[in-house]
Amino acid sequence: MHRDQSSRKADSPAAERAPASVPVIRFSAVRKSYDGGRSFAVERLDLDVCKGEFLTLLGPSGSGKTTTLMMLAGFERPSHGAIELDGRDITSVPPHQRDIGVVFQNYALFPHMTVLENIRFPLSVRRVSAEEQIERAQRALGMVQLHGVDSRRPGELSGGQQQRVAIARALVFNPRLILMDEPLGALDRVLREQMQVELKHLHRMLGVTVVYVTHDQGEAIALSDRVAVFNKGRIAQIGSAEDLYEKPTSEFVAGFLGENNILPGVLMQSDGETSGVKMGASTLRCRKADLPAQTNVCVAIRPERIHLRKDPSSSSADNVMPATVVDRMYFGDHVKYQVAVANDFSLSVKVPAADDVQADVGRQVHVCIPSRACRIVEREQEANQNERS
Ligand code: ADP
Ligand code: MG
Repeated sequence: MHRDQSSRKADSPAAERAPASVPVIRFSAVRKSYDGGRSFAVERLDLDVCKGEFLTLLGPSGSGKTTTLMMLAGFERPSHGAIELDGRDITSVPPHQRDIGVVFQNYALFPHMTVLENIRFPLSVRRVSAEEQIERAQRALGMVQLHGVDSRRPGELSGGQQQRVAIARALVFNPRLILMDEPLGALDRVLREQMQVELKHLHRMLGVTVVYVTHDQGEAIALSDRVAVFNKGRIAQIGSAEDLYEKPTSEFVAGFLGENNILPGVLMQSDGETSGVKMGASTLRCRKADLPAQTNVCVAIRPERIHLRKDPSSSSADNVMPATVVDRMYFGDHVKYQVAVANDFSLSVKVPAADDVQADVGRQVHVCIPSRACRIVEREQEANQNERS
């Protein structure tokens, strides 16, 4: 299919295009409405997925993750735009002809079939010989570490075991792509973490391309090569987990991944390497922002990047401010402080428990924040903030 490179550049942000490797999947200007165009579950999607990558769609409930996955699987049709698989337009290809394995949110196993029959099913549809079906189904069961349950029905298995069957069924026909929608959502924490390790291992071992959906940021960070953060039917930002954690561009992404202090303020003139952001009577020196002075912005500061000092002269940070300890909570490996800086703002600060500098509630301390730990991000509209809470 011929594509006009120049027009593609104009209508799709470069940041949403995958790095220099082969895209297996390409969403071009995809939109999806369930109500004839009054509202859009997916507002606009331009996205490449690279061969062999583990891409996670991360976002709050209702942000369009499942809709995106279902369009890719072929169970929903885009209202606008096109989806390509290996360079072929598959927008109107039915699900069973797409060569995509899907693990649904609720496992969707066939209750009347045994485990082995469930896993053989995709092969029997593809007219693989009975002998080979059994051999490949057994191999798939081995991959997900499930032994001795071949002849049970799904109802006789635990949630974790059912999930393994669903994964084996998605893997058994060597699909070129595997989609998973919150596959670990119903499992308890210990089992979930164990399955995360196994999924990562399977992905490495098989080299298959995975598109994974979760609303759990910890899971996204642990599993993914890249994460696409969804907000209201759009990708707010896409990149490696480290990029999103260290370099969020919006208040939404800064607040969605990990803990963050997000402080509203007004941008001052930039000088050299830093920009000042005014908050009440205080001014914070931050990483330089490419925005005009007087813009309403937010400053995002990770709690672990802030230090407490009793003696301010012992810090070389470019923001050193007197503060009062308002709250203190002990977590074993770290202590979390809530401190108030004048009447201007309060901060959450994480101090390793082994650190010498600990202080009681009511004590005066100094907060020390390097400007490079202060990232200026776009401030969200009021309406967005209401919806998020
Ligand atoms: P997520 O998976 O991120 O929670 P969804 O893709 O399921 O989000 O939903 C996005 C939006 O589309 C929501 O507002 C949801 O109510 C709506 N939606 C999803 N599926 C349907 C459907 N089959 N019919 C009508 N609206 C739907
Ligand atoms: Mg969903």
